[in-house]
This record gives sequence, structure tokens and C-alpha cells, in this order.
Amino acid sequence: VAHTLHYAGGQWDRADRIRRDTDELQRLWQSPDTRWLPVFKANNLIAGNAAVMRTRAELEQTGLSHDGGTFLGLDNKGALFSVECDEQQAHAWRKLQVGSEFVDLRAVGSSMSTDEACLLGYARALSHWQTQNRYCGVCGGLNTLTAGGHVTQCSNVDCQRQVFPRTDPAVIMLVERIDAQGQRSCLLGRTASWPEGVYSTLAGFVEPGESLEDAVVREVAEEAGIAVRDVRYCASQPWPFPQSIMLGFVATAVDDDIVIDTHELEDARWFSESELPLFGDWGDQAPGFKLPRTDSIARFLIDSWLADAKG
Ligand SMILES: [Zn+2]
Repeated sequence: VAHTLHYAGGQWDRADRIRRDTDELQRLWQSPDTRWLPVFKANNLIAGNAAVMRTRAELEQTGLSHDGGTFLGLDNKGALFSVECDEQQAHAWRKLQVGSEFVDLRAVGSSMSTDEACLLGYARALSHWQTQNRYCGVCGGLNTLTAGGHVTQCSNVDCQRQVFPRTDPAVIMLVERIDAQGQRSCLLGRTASWPEGVYSTLAGFVEPGESLEDAVVREVAEEAGIAVRDVRYCASQPWPFPQSIMLGFVATAVDDDIVIDTHELEDARWFSESELPLFGDWGDQAPGFKLPRTDSIARFLIDSWLADAKG
């Protein structure tokens, strides 16, 4: 079964070929079909379940003008740019549509279309990277944005160092155990900050000089004291909160005895494939075990593993 993970699978064209074509970018700014969408303090403007985006003519009615911005690409209506807003501009944008609010995409993304959630995640991630890279990390010079907002370049003529948008890889893994009777169970843990009863797959950042498979083995050993083998890749999910990609794996446990790292986890347990379908959902008020959020790759890994069990 082909699943689409949330924040992935956007259907617009990123149109990399246009980013360095300054003539074409200027032409697109003037085009009546081009739309801008705002980012304010890492939040996206949303009305109901939809992204708010506006054309040049619509923006000019309110005194807003956003020549430039970050080029996001082309969809079937035209070009798309995102713009970083200050306080005043954010206020003007909100007034463009009754009921619109700047919100954390993570709080609303699961109720949006996959395409728009992906687009807003892209805009948010680029905005985050830009605001974190205002100065050159080598000489301290002021950086300028080029290539439609996709490259920063140091303005010090003796340096001119370029930096490209970055994404931090994190591995997330479902660890399974099969006992002598062929009964399958999986290892889930929880951190103290999560809502009561929520258990999820283990995860962690990939370190420099480490393969993804090595990171899976290390993280499971560190967090739960379990050795694993047969690390198998499943799927990935962009996670622009603020700038990660989650790389999903399944691995097989070599031993059973869980020893948690109490700095990372509050608890970790083996749950059998017959227990998991009885879990509630993230957000349920009733006490008891709960599965992770439906828009997460953690949930995807658990649901896929359960579907496999049914054959
Ligand atoms: Zn520099």
C-alpha cells in the first residue's frame, strides 16, 4: 500500500532552474498570477484549514508590497513566493482575511491538505534557515540572500562564502521482537513532556561521521539498552519543526531487557500486536495508552507494522 506521509508529496514544481534567473524572477513579481504567502516568527497564515496567499493586486489594496521574497516554485496557477513579515506587515496580512491567524503549522497541519501542508512546511523551513544565517559563520560578515532566497552569500569580498539550506537528519525506528511462539511485539517509549499515556517509537539525531543504520543501533542501545540487528529502511518524512527530516526504519531486537536512559525517556515497554489496536489516539481525554499523532511518521511505522501482522 502506497501511503502519503503528511508534509511530504507536494504537487507543485520547485523550479530550481528559475532560482538563479533574475530576469525571470523579476518578471514573475510583476505577473498578475503570482501569489505570496507570509511567514511571521516561523508561523504560517491560515484561515480555517487553508493557507492564505495573495496576488500583487490584492496586496496593493492594503498597502502591502512584497517585491521579492523567497521563490517556492510554480503551481498550476502561477508562481509562489513566501515573505518574512515584520509586526506591521503581519497585522496587515491578518486584516486581508477575516478569521485568519498566524499559527504553528505543527498544530494545524494534520487538518490541512497534504499539498498545502507540504508547501507551508517548505516556506517555514526556508524562513527558519534564513533567519538563522544572517551572518557568515567564518568571518562574521553580513550575509545576503541570492538564488531566489535559496543561498546566502557573505558580503565580505574577501570571503563570499555561500551557505545552502540545510536539513538535519533524524532516525526513527520501530524495534520488533518475535518470541519463540512467533508472537510479535514492539518497543515504544515516552518522554515526560508528552500527554498522559502516549507511547511512540524511539528517535534521535544522526551524528557526524555516522551512517543511518549506525544511528539506529546507537539510539536504541542508548535510550532503551536494547541491541538490534537487521535495520531496514521504510520511509521518510520532512519535519520542518524547525529543520529536520525523519528517516523511518524497522529493526529486530536481539535481547528483551529494557534499561532506559532516564535523561531521555520516562518509560519504555514491549507492546504486543494485540495490545496496540486497543490504544487510544493522541488528544483523547480518557486515561490509558495512546498512539502518537496521526500526521507523524511514528504513527505510520506503527500502523504499517500492524498491517503487516495481519498479512
Ligand atoms: Zn564571510
